[in-house]
Amino acid sequence: MKIYNRIKYALGLSCSNCNTSVFGKSGILFKVNRIKDTRIIKGSISDRPPFNGFDVGFSEVNNYNITGNFYYYRVKGEIFSVKLCSYKCAYEYSVENNAIMMFEDPESRGKIRCITPQIVELNRNIGSTNLYRGQPMPNKSSW
Ligand SMILES: [Zn+2]
Repeated sequence: MKIYNRIKYALGLSCSNCNTSVFGKSGILFKVNRIKDTRIIKGSISDRPPFNGFDVGFSEVNNYNITGNFYYYRVKGEIFSVKLCSYKCAYEYSVENNAIMMFEDPESRGKIRCITPQIVELNRNIGSTNLYRGQPMPNKSSW
């Protein structure tokens, strides 16, 4: 049975986290980028922690939330793909594998969003009702 499950994962037939069938067009394809280092730093709209040396970052700070956490990551850069059934499974997979999960958001014309091991905390802190919602991939030049 175990070998059969492994073949199903390899063929993208079942969710790599919960084993639900994701045959055909169901399921969401994620690019997985493992995290080397995570920093969670408090900051504000006028006092952003320095981003030097990190690869990607997300923050809770905007015009409505003038203080909050900045989540900075260094990644390993070995990217691979997995198919998962839901954003909740992507969150669980990101925690389990300490990875950033990137996906094309069909609701915003294929824009890249990211689910991280801290995404639930971030969404809760910004008052989002969808705790598994991915954050937009930041444009590196904006950091
Ligand atoms: Zn699943």
